[in-house]
Amino acid sequence: MFSRYDGKKLVSASRLESYAGCPFKYFIESGLRAEERKIFEVETSDQGTVYHESLMKITGRLSAEGIWGSVTEEELDRMVDETLKQETEEYGDRLFTYSGSEAYRAGRMKESLREALRILVKHARAGEIRESRYEQPFGRKGLPPVEVKTDKGTVYIEGVIDRYDVLGNGRVKVIDYKLSGKPISENYIKEGYRLQLMVYMKAVRSEERKPAGVFYYVIPDDTVDLDKKSGVSMKALMEDTEESAAQKQIVLDTLADDAAMDGIVIDDPETLREIAGDGSGKVIKARFKDDGTPYKNNAAMVVSDEEFDRIQGEADAKIREIVENIQSGKIDIGPMLLSNKVSACTYCGYRGICRFDQAFRGCRYREVRK
Ligand code: SF4
Repeated sequence: MFSRYDGKKLVSASRLESYAGCPFKYFIESGLRAEERKIFEVETSDQGTVYHESLMKITGRLSAEGIWGSVTEEELDRMVDETLKQETEEYGDRLFTYSGSEAYRAGRMKESLREALRILVKHARAGEIRESRYEQPFGRKGLPPVEVKTDKGTVYIEGVIDRYDVLGNGRVKVIDYKLSGKPISENYIKEGYRLQLMVYMKAVRSEERKPAGVFYYVIPDDTVDLDKKSGVSMKALMEDTEESAAQKQIVLDTLADDAAMDGIVIDDPETLREIAGDGSGKVIKARFKDDGTPYKNNAAMVVSDEEFDRIQGEADAKIREIVENIQSGKIDIGPMLLSNKVSACTYCGYRGICRFDQAFRGCRYREVRK
């Protein structure tokens, strides 16, 4: 149930989270290597792939050309249009150009991707970044893998870090781009629901860097119900009228307000300033005073270096437990259920295989609280 490379057993960081969500789902994906049935229409995962690829290409280009500080909105929009056109045309048998509704979706994606880039540029300009790396692999290539030693042998974790920035003070912040809000909490990390960021940070720390923080950046997405959030209907938004332009601004403002990153950040004033600039809560979901001291009750977790290391230790313990379970062949049907009633089954396409049904004895969710 592990991949093999050069005589080593490997597992990806995302598959570890998948195991934590439901061991049986991991078995179907990694042991049976089954794939969900593909229907020829644009699904959320297709949009996610195109968004992600486009975003990585454009941000990589901004870094390669060193123009984060100087790029204009018009240049950004042009990059989005060119990149998205290329990505949608090349994606899965031209799926996005198949029918009018698919092309319409691609148009909506363009709007939200343009906004995502504008927000990322604002974030970059607010702080002090010495160097950024995008799509940084670790494991088979790039940075060394994260090693997990158990009584049954050593397993190596691999993956690709969407982005990490080295700040002016030499600390490092890790960012994962997601399509939907991914809450983070110490308990979620302890239970394995949110492990990836801590694995990425561990991989980056092999370069002897001190952590600044780990964050999720949620890409503004047209599958998000913006109608409800902004009070503007998508239909009205897509019309080419003066009124729709004004309504579009309402949506953009809503997106910008939601764009602050959730995560865990070190409470050092210099680090907070180099990540977030003025501390107004627009870059990360943590606000702090002029002297750099954070306010209480921030949405993001603000922790000391010692607390961060303790949370890293909890993540390491969970990773080791998961690896030991996989080595022992534990593949129970045990889907995780979160406090907001979302479960591992919610977006799982394997119900036809596992037949999980709470009406049967022994079929129970594993509840995890934030
Ligand atoms: S449907 Fe639920 S129980 Fe079945 S494999 Fe998927 S996550 Fe596990």
